[in-house]
Amino acid sequence: MKSINKGYINGAFVTLHGTETFNLISPTNHEQIGVVTLGDEIDVQQAVAAAKEAFASFSKSSIAARIQLLKNLQDAVSKREKELVEVMIQEYGGTRQFCTMSTQFAIASFGNMIETLEAFEFQRKAGNTLVQLTPVGVVGIITPWNASNSFICGKVGTAIAAGCTVVVKPSEMSALQTQLLVECFHEAGLPKGLFNVVNGLGNIVGTAITNHPDIAKISFTGSTVTGKLIAKSAVDTVKRVTLELGGKSPNIILDDADFEKAIPMAVFGAYMNSGQACVAPTRLLVPKAKLAQVNQLAKAAVEQVVVGNPTNAATNVGPMVSNKQFERVQSYIQIGLQEGATLLAGGLGKPAGLEDGNFVKATIFTNVSNDMRIAREEIFGPVLSIIPYENEEDAISIANDTTYGLAAYITSSDERRALRVASQIDAGRVCVNGFKHDPLAPFGGFKQSGLGREFGAYGLEEYLEPKSILL
Ligand code: NAD
Repeated sequence: MKSINKGYINGAFVTLHGTETFNLISPTNHEQIGVVTLGDEIDVQQAVAAAKEAFASFSKSSIAARIQLLKNLQDAVSKREKELVEVMIQEYGGTRQFCTMSTQFAIASFGNMIETLEAFEFQRKAGNTLVQLTPVGVVGIITPWNASNSFICGKVGTAIAAGCTVVVKPSEMSALQTQLLVECFHEAGLPKGLFNVVNGLGNIVGTAITNHPDIAKISFTGSTVTGKLIAKSAVDTVKRVTLELGGKSPNIILDDADFEKAIPMAVFGAYMNSGQACVAPTRLLVPKAKLAQVNQLAKAAVEQVVVGNPTNAATNVGPMVSNKQFERVQSYIQIGLQEGATLLAGGLGKPAGLEDGNFVKATIFTNVSNDMRIAREEIFGPVLSIIPYENEEDAISIANDTTYGLAAYITSSDERRALRVASQIDAGRVCVNGFKHDPLAPFGGFKQSGLGREFGAYGLEEYLEPKSILL
């Protein structure tokens, strides 16, 4: 059992002022695997003071120096890639497939930011005016548990590219993963105070970061409920906020699609990251006339989904991160049954032989109506809702009938038709014919899925203030 009892402040692992602890429990077998000491407001003050002092010089650093730091980080994190994958599987319960991809993505984020930085113009002309893009200040980074290190690497890399310094508060459930990552960052030889980490609870450490007058911006990934709380508190000091929040993403299968291929892909896609993915395509929109065929194909596909121990390479769906998350998913399955949706696969309870962990059966509801709660609310587990539509116009209207707008997916044999539909969907990312990712394209949500963008030049601009100099 590991004990994480230090924060990382001003370039060193330091004993925290906070003394409360939080037990780290394996999602796979409920054994205690560690304990983390939680920081408090005093720890946040110290971390912010260090970041503020470092900002005075780092904000003036050259682009070449920032690129070198990003390279050092990439090297340092790459060296421990295997360990990072293993600890993520152990602590979070993510599948080997997902944890491997997520860690590679975290490492690649530094290279992507270097590419962005090399082409980025920090000085521009607007009218007759010189516009300088200047680093916004100390950034508070608050992250969730579902791809913890990947979020930290992406956000810290962007902050460094902009010339900002940071105070990071990861989920308390990600302490083992964070510890290993911080060791990598320490190896990378960053200037003291540039990067600080305080483990702790959202309502203590998170709130202290959000309220701190010396923090200029919050970059948050997490639930919409928490995002709204942060945005409200941030207003008091007029902080900039970037919010990457929840989703209920539609996956529209148009009537000209190859259903034999599209439906199995849709089923496996809905279970990406064991269903604990903000961009998971959880609403499968299919033509009403083809519902019977879709049900048959979906049922056959779900039988191929392997729910089980996340260390096994073949596992598609691991346990939920916590017992609380398991209970939440169970309650939504119950709600679906009560709402009168047809249960096509899975259902309540744990799969046979997996009673010791937070395992949920790969579940599909069909004949779901878009006004049911299982179609409107983010479940964050392996539960797919199949929703029939009348025609293309109806499909677009159902897809947009949501408070969310993070991602959407369209499958069609006619790319021009798919593009026509894509341009009518209210979502920050629309993928045509497959689950795609472009690390240089802006990522973020419409509506209540977020505020602002991450990745590439759009993401970098969020960490910069335009200053107009009129000569
Ligand atoms: P969460 O909102 O409960 O917690 C996220 C982080 O916020 C944690 O570090 C938590 O401790 C902290 N926090 C909680 N209360 C706080 C407060 N009052 N002030 C400041 N910080 C506070 O989210 P979660 O359960 O950890 O993660 C799952 C959610 O994250 C889902 O809704 C998912 O859709 C969302 N998410 C979004 C994206 C995206 O890019 N849009 C990516 C991944 C996850």
